[in-house]
Amino acid sequence: FKVPAPVNEPIFGYAPGTKERDLLEAALTEARSETGNIPMYIGGKPVHTETKGKVTPPHDHQHILAQYSIGNKTHVQQAIDAALAAKAKWENLAWEQRASIFLKIADLISGPYRYKLNAATMLGQSKNAYQAEIDAVCELVDFLRFNVNYMSEIYQQQPPVSPKGVWNRVEQRPLEGFVFALTPFNFTAIAANLPTSAALMGNVVVWKPADTQIYAANLLMEIFIEAGLPDGVINLIYADGPEVGEVIFNSPDFAGIHFTGSTAVFQNIWKTIGTNIHKYKTYPRIVGETGGKDFILIHGSADAEVSSTAILRGAFEYQGQKCSAASRVYIAKSIWPKIKELMLRDLATFKMGGTEDFSNFINAVIDERSFNKLSKYIDQAKAESGVEIIAGGNYDKSKGYFIEPTVLVVEDPKYTTMCEELFGPVLTVFVYDDIEFDRILEVIDTTSVYALTGAVIAQDRYAIEQATVALRNAAGNFYINDKCTGAVVGQQPFGGARGSGTNDKAGSMINLLRWVSPRTIKESF
Ligand code: GLU
Repeated sequence: FKVPAPVNEPIFGYAPGTKERDLLEAALTEARSETGNIPMYIGGKPVHTETKGKVTPPHDHQHILAQYSIGNKTHVQQAIDAALAAKAKWENLAWEQRASIFLKIADLISGPYRYKLNAATMLGQSKNAYQAEIDAVCELVDFLRFNVNYMSEIYQQQPPVSPKGVWNRVEQRPLEGFVFALTPFNFTAIAANLPTSAALMGNVVVWKPADTQIYAANLLMEIFIEAGLPDGVINLIYADGPEVGEVIFNSPDFAGIHFTGSTAVFQNIWKTIGTNIHKYKTYPRIVGETGGKDFILIHGSADAEVSSTAILRGAFEYQGQKCSAASRVYIAKSIWPKIKELMLRDLATFKMGGTEDFSNFINAVIDERSFNKLSKYIDQAKAESGVEIIAGGNYDKSKGYFIEPTVLVVEDPKYTTMCEELFGPVLTVFVYDDIEFDRILEVIDTTSVYALTGAVIAQDRYAIEQATVALRNAAGNFYINDKCTGAVVGQQPFGGARGSGTNDKAGSMINLLRWVSPRTIKESF
C-alpha cells in the first residue's frame, strides 16, 4: 500500500487573545526562566562534558538560555560507532515501522510540542512568531509527512520487466556506512529534515547542527527519542567544525553528507572528500544546499503593490537570513517612483526588537560575526559614491545584533552588494531603463554565480515568457508575480544549482533517492 499524500500543516496566526497566543507566550516565559544543561546524544544517551558553550538569544545576548556540552574527536568517533552499531537492526526494520516513528514525530510537533519548539526557535534563532510557526512547525511537519508519502512510493515503484523464466526486481538499500548531517541555523525545519530524511530511508546518522541552532536542535532530539527512534539511529554532537570534519571525513564508513550552509564550507568539504576518496568503502553521496544571491526582476508592466510586497517580504522576513531571500532587485524606471513610495510607506511601519514582543517584525541577526559583516557593507555603501541609502543604514549591538532593514540604490548593476551574498536585511536596488529589458536579463544571468531563487513581476505575458526562458539556469526556484521565498513542501520542491548546491530538491522524492543505493536482482527459474 502507499501512504496517501498529506495536506500541508495549517499555520496558526497567534492573534492576541487567542488560546494559541497564550500557550506560546507561556512557553516563551518558561523557556526564558530556565537555564538548562544541554547534552550531546550518542547511542541514545545524553553525554555531558566539562567544556561548555552558551546559548543566548541573538536579540538579547547577555541572557543565558542554556549551556551546552562541547565534545571532542573522541565523541565524534563514538557517535560514528554508535551509528554503525545501530545500523543492522534499523535498516532491516520494515519501512512501515520506520515511517511510523517519523509520523509520530510530526504529530508531536503539530500537537503537544508546537509551542515549545516555536518558543525555542523564537528565542534561540531570533525568529518572530510567524516565521517560527512556518518553519519549526509547518515546514518541519510537512517534511516528515510528505517524505513518508514519497518513501512509500519509492519502495513500491513499478518493478522492471520480467520475461518468462526470469524474475527481475530492484531493492532500495540504505547506504553502506553512515550519513553525516551538517545543518544550518536559519531553519529548524532544515536542521531536522537533513538527519531525518536520511534516517527514514534506513540510514544511520551523525548530526552536527550550527552552534546557533543548538537550543531547538536539543528539543528536536528529545522529541525524536519520545517518538521511539531507536538508540544510535541519529547521534547529535556539538564540537568544533574542523575537528568533527577530521574524524568524519577520514572514516572508511563515511557514506554521504546531507548539508545546508555556506558555499565556501561545502566546497571545502567536497575537496576533503575528494582527497580522501580512496579511504571510503563506497563513493559518498554529496547533497548540499548552499548560498544564494536571489533576485526579483520588476518589469514596467508590473503591479506596484504586488512588487513592493514581494520585495519587502522577500528581502526582510527573518532579517533576510534565508538562502532564498531577495537581495538584489532590478526595477524598471517607469514604475520605480511608485514602488519606492510604497516600500518606504511600509518600511516605516516595521518595528524592530526582541521576539518576545509580537509586534516586532524585524528581530536580530544571528550573531556578532554576521552583524560585523553586514555593518561593514553598510559603512562601505555610506562611504562610496554611486550608492544611495534610501532606508535604514543604522545598526546597534548593545543589547542584540540589530541591523535596520536597509535599502541601497546603486548606479552599477555589478556593485558588490548586487553580487556578493550578505545574508541579512540589506537589499540593493538597480533601476534600469524600460527599453533595456533584454540587457538586464543578460546582466542577471551572467551575475548569477548562485542560482537558488528568483522572481519576475510583470503583467505583460511576453515579458514573463522572455524572463522565464532567459533566466532558465539562474534559479532553481523561479517565481512569477510572487516573492522568491517561502517554498512550501509538497508544492514547490526547493533547491538550486550553480553555486547554490546540488539541487536535490528538499522535501521531494529526488532527495530521498539520494539516500538509497539500489540493488538489481535477477533470478532465473
Ligand atoms: N525553503 C526556504 C524558502 O523557500 C529557504 C531555505 C533556506 O534558507 O535554506 O524560503
